[in-house]
Amino acid sequence: MKVLMTEYLRIDLDTEMWECRRCNRVHGSARDNYKRGLLVYDRDPTEIHKPLLNPALYERTYSPDPKWCRILEYYCADCGTMVETEYLPPGHPPLHDIEIDIDALKLQWQDREEVKEPPIGRDLALEKVLEHRAAHSGHGHDHGRGRS
Ligand SMILES: [Zn+2]
Repeated sequence: MKVLMTEYLRIDLDTEMWECRRCNRVHGSARDNYKRGLLVYDRDPTEIHKPLLNPALYERTYSPDPKWCRILEYYCADCGTMVETEYLPPGHPPLHDIEIDIDALKLQWQDREEVKEPPIGRDLALEKVLEHRAAHSGHGHDHGRGRS
């Protein structure tokens, strides 16, 4: 039985391991931090949040100070999917942001059917765009643009 945990992570309750939902790579023990099994890219925050003011003229530029802030990006080592990002002071260890009681999770799922993909509703925004396109794709009304 595999349980979906985040958009890109699931736990295999039989092996008690974190897995990639995209490529099935095993990241490591589900009783430990999933980030231990991922690649980490320690980013300079000014690469992502460019200064809005000239750094030669201003000390504070609305861009994070790399002496105080780093951005850690975590990637699956096989498929390259970005699994998580976090803002931390330089040198701070990765946050242990998901700590699951595996024994409780097993009890919770013992009588349930496995969910392979989360049930998602209709994409109303996409439907609206498609309806709009269909209504304006030239079936006889030209909205004053004229036709040749
Ligand atoms: Zn993967």
